[in-house]
Amino acid sequence: MRWRGRRQSTNVEDRRGLSLGGGAGLGCGGLVLLLIISFITGINPLELLNQVPETQTGGHTETDRTATPEQNDEMSQFVRVVLASTEDTWNEIFQDMGRRYEQPRLVLFSDSVSSACGFSSSAVGPFYCPGDNQVYLDLSFFRQLDRRFGAPGDFAQAYVIAHEIGHHVQNLLGISDQVHARQQQSGQAEANELSVRLELQADCLAGVWGNHANRTSQMLETGDVEEGLNAAAAIGDDTLQQRTGGHVVPESWTHGSSSMRVEWFRRGLQSGNPSGCDTFGTGRVSD
Ligand SMILES: [Zn+2]
Repeated sequence: MRWRGRRQSTNVEDRRGLSLGGGAGLGCGGLVLLLIISFITGINPLELLNQVPETQTGGHTETDRTATPEQNDEMSQFVRVVLASTEDTWNEIFQDMGRRYEQPRLVLFSDSVSSACGFSSSAVGPFYCPGDNQVYLDLSFFRQLDRRFGAPGDFAQAYVIAHEIGHHVQNLLGISDQVHARQQQSGQAEANELSVRLELQADCLAGVWGNHANRTSQMLETGDVEEGLNAAAAIGDDTLQQRTGGHVVPESWTHGSSSMRVEWFRRGLQSGNPSGCDTFGTGRVSD
C-alpha cells in the first residue's frame, strides 16, 4: 500500500503499555476461543496458550498512562493513515446520503483492555464496541495474521481495520440494532445466520473503503487486492469477534463462510457502493 506521507487520523488513542492490573488472566471466553482455534488450525491448545501474553501482576494501573508516552512508531502511523482514509471515505458517503458521519475512535492496546463491552484480553482479536463507538486493536494481532493465519501484508491489516469500521457504519445506520432486535425474537439457527449476514456486510463495507482509498488517493499497489482477499478467506470473525466480558455474537460455522467473505469483500471493492452491500436481501448467505 502507498500509505506513507498521507494524512493521519487524530482519533487514535494509544493505550499500549498500560496494564489494567490485577490477575484477570484469560477469561472463560478466551479459553473457549483457544480451543476453537486449535480445533480449526490443528495447533495444540497448550502451544496456543503459551502465546497468550501473561497478565502483568506488578500492580500497574491506568495511572501508568503518564509513564508511557504515546509512541509514534511505524505501525501506529500506518493505523492512523488507514483510519484517516476510512474517515474520508465514510464522510463522503454519509454526506451523499444527507447524513453526518460520526468518526469513531480507535484504541491501540496491549495485552488487555477495558471498554464499554467489558474486559477483553488480546486473545479475542480486534473488535468494535457499539457501547462506546470505539474500535479496539492490539497490534500483535497483525503478527498473528501473518504467521498463524498466513495472511501477510499491509492491505490485509487495513482490511481488518476497515471491517471493524464497517461495524461502526452499521451501528450508525441502525442496522446492528435492527439485527440484534430480530435475533432476540429468533431461534439459534436464525440468529446465527443474521450474525453471518452482519459480518459479511462489514466485509463488503471494508471493500467499499478499499475502492474509495484507491480511487481518491491511489493507495493500492499490485498484489494488495489479493492480500485483502486472502485475509478475508483466512480469518473468520469467529476468531476475531469473541470477547470476554462483553456480549458474544454467536457465529455460524459453515463451509461457505470463507468463500462468502471473499465474495462480499470483492463486491464492495469492485462497486465502491454501500448499497451493493445488502447481505440481508439475497437469500441464504451460506452455500
Ligand atoms: Zn466483524
